[in-house]
Amino acid sequence: MSKLARTVSDFLGARPQYTHDIAKLQTYIDTVIDWEAAHGLVLRAPKLNDSASTGDWLKAALVPAPVALAPSPIPRGEFEKVVALQPALNTLFDRISQDHEFLSATLESLGTSDEFTARVYDMYLKQRALGIRKPGVIGIHRSDYLIDAPEGGSHGPRAKQVEFNTIAASFASLSSIVGDLHRFLLERTGFAGILEAGTITKSQLPENESLTSIGDGIAAGFDLYGKRDAIVVMVVQPGERNVYDQRWVEDRLWNQHGIRVVRLTFAEILARCVVGSDNRLILGEDEVAVAYYRSGYAPTDFPSEREWEGRWLVEKSRAISVPNLAYHLAGCKKIQQVLAQPGVVERFVSDRKTAEMVRECFVGLYPLDDSEEGKQAYEDALADPTKYVVKPQREGGGYNSYGEDIPKLLGRISEEERRGYILMDLIRAPGFRNVLLRNGQLVASEVVSELGIYGVWVSDADGNVVVNRHGGHLLRTKASDVYEGGVAAGFAVIDSPLLV
Ligand code: ADP
Ligand code: MG
Ligand code: MG
Repeated sequence: MSKLARTVSDFLGARPQYTHDIAKLQTYIDTVIDWEAAHGLVLRAPKLNDSASTGDWLKAALVPAPVALAPSPIPRGEFEKVVALQPALNTLFDRISQDHEFLSATLESLGTSDEFTARVYDMYLKQRALGIRKPGVIGIHRSDYLIDAPEGGSHGPRAKQVEFNTIAASFASLSSIVGDLHRFLLERTGFAGILEAGTITKSQLPENESLTSIGDGIAAGFDLYGKRDAIVVMVVQPGERNVYDQRWVEDRLWNQHGIRVVRLTFAEILARCVVGSDNRLILGEDEVAVAYYRSGYAPTDFPSEREWEGRWLVEKSRAISVPNLAYHLAGCKKIQQVLAQPGVVERFVSDRKTAEMVRECFVGLYPLDDSEEGKQAYEDALADPTKYVVKPQREGGGYNSYGEDIPKLLGRISEEERRGYILMDLIRAPGFRNVLLRNGQLVASEVVSELGIYGVWVSDADGNVVVNRHGGHLLRTKASDVYEGGVAAGFAVIDSPLLV
């Protein structure tokens, strides 16, 4: 058995050291870029829709995905723990989604502070009032963690949950391919020139099923619909750059399951689909069994009423939307904050040990409303903003406030608006020295990594569980002096874990 890092200093000491001297690494640039192109680890080039300033040829231009040159360390015990925990989290969120009383009380506590969430909630109420029945439920989730490892602390490194994503969790496909890239570099080069001290073995680079788990999960849900020649609609953003991550899911559905995928925006759904007899969602000659959303999580995904109407067409039909409206709502930051309050996890998870394991991953989360606790949290945030992060009900990165921006934000917004935010303890993950490759350039940087564990859930119309599993992992790595961690938002690169 490999030695586990039981204390923070064990963990920090077991990490390899990579070179700071990027001049020595220039030969890696072509090697990696060409490997990425050959293995579909690519994105569309930026400014695709800016036809005025780009030539037509740019419409077909691809760029290699931004990556870490070598894997970043994650404590093996914590990695295995959060992987094992994922089915329990899938169950927890399914139960939340079915608890109308809990969902409505929590979301109504946001008042009028958040127009977007209110609109999704209204659609959920409308769908519920109509009593629309779906043939099943499909959840494609990702639970994100940072490693809390204070030096000199009384315990070992711990994975702490940043958030739980229930909608459009991305990068599963590209993440798996980055793991392959690092395995290739290890076998082909032994990380020659990169590795300055320490060693890396293949057993430290975990296999990652995330290339296939999402497609396989959607296929299992598709089967519940019961029409072999139906289609899956992947609902996408116009001008999406992260297309290939999605195409790999499409590939899996076709190659492994013989299921056709059509890519449509919400506006195109409105223009091209109709709801026919028995609430069937029809696109031309085809019936839509599943609508997998890689859009619909941000206000910008609904620039006009047409997009809302397109979404409603799906929601009022028999087609299974991924996520369903209740799952979408269950992923709100407000739900995460309320879950952290005493007794709430336990309301959904009867097994004491499991509830404890879930709680162990939480850091302090506080309301910013007019309750006693909310007022106290407000005072605490103003007194020492460097200990916290303030989050609105948003997804997709770039919306949070940190440090000195917290008092500025809290000073600017009204008490009513404040209800739409939550306060969270800042997790201070240990910095590590890695080399990042983005835009054809190597940058040596002090970095911090965020681990995501995918979760796949499928249940039938009667609530019987068909699939409940972890679906592989994602490691995103960013320079440690930036707070936000999204790859799509331009903050981070895709990485793979080195278990130490
Ligand atoms: P989003 O849904 O927009 O991705 P997140 O809650 O994941 O929102 O926050 C975005 C980023 O902010 C995370 O990827 C992480 O880098 C940083 N972040 C969020 N919460 C914390 C926290 N409690 N401690 C430290 N960093 C955090
Ligand atoms: Mg999110
Ligand atoms: Mg996030």
